[in-house]
Amino acid sequence: MTIKHYRDQFIQELTPLYDAGEAESFFYLILEAKHQLRRVDLALQPDLFFSEAELETLSSILKQLKKEIPVQYILGTTHFYGLEFEVNSNVLIPRPETEELVDWIIQSSKFNPEVSGQNSKFKILDIGTGSGCIAISLAKNLHNAEVFALDVSDKALATAQENAELNQVTIQFIHQSILEIEDLGQQFDLIVSNPPYVRHLEKQEIKKNVLDNEPHLALFVNDNDALIFYQKIAQLAKKNLCPNGQLYFEINQYLGQETLDLLQEMGFKDTVLRKDIYGNDRMIQCTI
Ligand code: GLN
Repeated sequence: MTIKHYRDQFIQELTPLYDAGEAESFFYLILEAKHQLRRVDLALQPDLFFSEAELETLSSILKQLKKEIPVQYILGTTHFYGLEFEVNSNVLIPRPETEELVDWIIQSSKFNPEVSGQNSKFKILDIGTGSGCIAISLAKNLHNAEVFALDVSDKALATAQENAELNQVTIQFIHQSILEIEDLGQQFDLIVSNPPYVRHLEKQEIKKNVLDNEPHLALFVNDNDALIFYQKIAQLAKKNLCPNGQLYFEINQYLGQETLDLLQEMGFKDTVLRKDIYGNDRMIQCTI
């Protein structure tokens, strides 16, 4: 069967569950990950076809998609900030909002030599690294940075380690629960975190395929203590950020002002709250 013909059938089979554009984007992700073919290759060679064996693999992928398993988990891979990352159900699938956070750091951090004009070495810590997407993208783009990444989940850290190797960067991994640390034992110039921040009362807003497949440990926080990670990380930052050090957070869109107030009350300066492309309060930058 020609690939183009198969594509139309594939989209049709998925349209009760997904909209056609989404189904089409899944098809091209699969084509690229499994067949090293891009959309443009299909346009240039309209007669390309799938073998029987390839059709069998595709039919098993289609079955999993019908069970609403995220395409990134099925393929075991995704892209983030122009890099490839392995993903599995132990780590969140990296989100475009988090790419915006990484981009904000790279474009604005005073530790980026291109921003400051100074070329000195500096230390970054990513707390709750998951797949390692923040730590690895920063290491890849900020060449003077020595990057550390912490997570409570050893399975997440194993995935992050694979991703560091895949992207050929050196990250120092730390296996710890941030809630149990009183002192990080060293000073950092920049601390960044995308901690769990979804309250159970927001559960109905989370898509079924996220709820059923992504690690709740990385998503949810106790409704009555929704800023616990921000508070704890800010306390540690008071001890373990160098003078003039910076703190960057991804945040719950409904708690922008509260998170900002918390940081200001704790004495952080130059606080900036920024929206993501969807217009939601999504990230904060501040200085010790
Ligand atoms: N933005 C993610 C979501 O909406 C949540 C990420 C997080 O809790 N840190 O699914």
